[in-house]
Amino acid sequence: MAVERTLSIIKPDGVEKGVIGQIIARFESKGLKPVAVRMAQLSQAEAEGFYAVHKARPFFNDLVKFMTSGPVVLMVLEGENAVLANREIMGATDPKKAAEGTIRRDFATDIEKNTVHGSDSLENAAVEVAYFFRTIEQHGYAWKK
Ligand code: UDP
Repeated sequence: MAVERTLSIIKPDGVEKGVIGQIIARFESKGLKPVAVRMAQLSQAEAEGFYAVHKARPFFNDLVKFMTSGPVVLMVLEGENAVLANREIMGATDPKKAAEGTIRRDFATDIEKNTVHGSDSLENAAVEVAYFFRTIEQHGYAWKK
């Protein structure tokens, strides 16, 4: 199995609900280690750039408004098959369709305010990680004894 890195965002609704700790605990308990963490207030330009692939979608403007409505927690998660593992822990985009025990099922408000973002492919993960974090801001868990 391959060790991968993926981008995770705790969206403004997750921060507002006070579940940052619970969300990170779910990742850590399933072997996904945060190797970079930063709280940020996204600007309109940052949110539009991040979601540029959805620019033509009807929900784009509302999504950008939501993502800039309050602080988010940006994280790089590292672990075995991290991209897919993160998507499984998150659950489906629409919390009504998300499996039991997933973050979105347990915490999301609706299909927009769905608490977490996670990269959907290894290729996109590399782009999304680089969008928010420089290499020097990403750490490892190996230390010298
Ligand atoms: N979204 C929305 N309405 C929709 C579909 C998506 O507001 O009908 C928002 C939602 O916050 C979602 C994000 O747009 O997480 C990106 O959509 P995508 O289809 O990439 O879902 P994800 O990969 O986040 O599960």
